[in-house]
Amino acid sequence: MAENPDAEPAPPCAASKPAIIVYGKRVGTIITVCTDNHCPVHDPRAAAAQAANPAPTMAPAPEAETEAEAEERKRNYEQQRKEYEQEQERRAEESRLEDEWREKEWEAERARREKLQKARNAKFDRILENAPAMFSAAQLRVFLRALVNLDPYTFADDVAEHFAAEDENNDKSAEEILLATVDGLTDDKLTGFALRLVLTGNIPITREGEVDSLTEAETAFVPAKPKKTATKTAKAPTPMKAAPKTASRKSSAKKQVAA
Ligand SMILES: [Zn+2]
Repeated sequence: MAENPDAEPAPPCAASKPAIIVYGKRVGTIITVCTDNHCPVHDPRAAAAQAANPAPTMAPAPEAETEAEAEERKRNYEQQRKEYEQEQERRAEESRLEDEWREKEWEAERARREKLQKARNAKFDRILENAPAMFSAAQLRVFLRALVNLDPYTFADDVAEHFAAEDENNDKSAEEILLATVDGLTDDKLTGFALRLVLTGNIPITREGEVDSLTEAETAFVPAKPKKTATKTAKAPTPMKAAPKTASRKSSAKKQVAA
């Protein structure tokens, strides 16, 4: 593999390294990249910092200089250079810590989004698992809200992708795949298909302020977990299962007495 003659020649620096492109149109091309985030040649901030803080130079010798004066001048220079090097080291350490911190932040954000996406995938699965044979009025309302919000340009393709993967017949259009799917569904699977149709585009993490149809649908279709009552009564010494029963019996008994 030869170097790409079309590549813009990068000015060389101490951190220049050859790199091979592994993805996209120019795959296999070798280019030269700078591997230093704070390279004084390629990072304008580092270049500015270096310009603002130039390396010290030894003062020129005056015309008449005694040996002691020359010694003094040299000592001064040595001292300045030492301070300069210490300052450079301090700045390099600061940059390194800054990079490390930024990388951690980025990694934390990536992990957060991955977790969020997994939760949304699971939410979508739960909604479909709980699709009823027929929508209630409240569920139909949520379905219609999701329908209004869906992206008309991509939704057919997104949903068809799911079914296309199953029958591997990829020469059909998205609409053909979806229509064939509808025709093959038993009556009790229609609501599940309807939910998949309007919710698939909502699986990716929504932006702040956007209507989150997936969460609305979860509220309408997935029965609330009994866990919530369990956490509330967790402190009670009585067994969790027995607790609500006794409570309802007691209250109904009281009502009967009162009536
Ligand atoms: Zn560089």
